[in-house]
Amino acid sequence: MDISDNINAIKAQLPEGVTLIAVSKTKPEADIMQAYNGGQRVFGENKAQEMKQKHENLPEDIQWHFIGHLQENKIKYIINYVTMIHSVDSLKLLAEINKRAAMCNRTVDCLFEMDISHEASKFGLSREELCMLLESETFKTLGNVRICGLMGIGSITQDRNQTRKEFKQLREMFVCIKEKYFADKPYFKEISMGMTGDYDIAVEEGATFVRIGSKIFGQRNYAV
Ligand SMILES: *Cc1c(COP(=O)(O)O)cnc(C)c1O
Repeated sequence: MDISDNINAIKAQLPEGVTLIAVSKTKPEADIMQAYNGGQRVFGENKAQEMKQKHENLPEDIQWHFIGHLQENKIKYIINYVTMIHSVDSLKLLAEINKRAAMCNRTVDCLFEMDISHEASKFGLSREELCMLLESETFKTLGNVRICGLMGIGSITQDRNQTRKEFKQLREMFVCIKEKYFADKPYFKEISMGMTGDYDIAVEEGATFVRIGSKIFGQRNYAV
């Protein structure tokens, strides 16, 4: 299995305007370097300390996207280099990211993670929670975060119609939130959805980022 070939095969299927995030969580730096040497620059990780380690050891021009659940006390491991945080699911977390970003003189791009699957194991906001957050006084004071769009994780299911329904719903929420709160913000344009098993559906339903791990790097072994 050649990592670069896998990436090229996926990229050949993606329309213009859809960015591939190579999800390298749990994978060794040598695997990332194979992808890098084939031209891939955008990578996704879901653990802050793991991302920090890889960022320190790997080339400077890699764009690191944080896609996992982020604990406030771990923000410090990623804040000074992260390209985008896909998983903001509370005002408290966003305010903490803002505070840390201000401390290193950055404005950090963020997405709100929306709960589209309603699976107990997953995180994310409802549409109502997001509206309340965006209308809060605190939100208006956050000058060191830039909200670029929404992210969602589809259900674990073989039912592709269910997955499609969830992705459609995320896109509808995106359109509605954009209209209501970000109409004059051209950078609010991203929809992050789709993984190895469902990225084809996500692309059809309007994804601008797909997050693909196993199809590029092979199955993950969490026992290591
Ligand atoms: C692991 C992970 C992915 C990639 O999953 P694959 O099925 O291996 O493509 C995408 N998004 C998130 C949030 C993940 O945690």
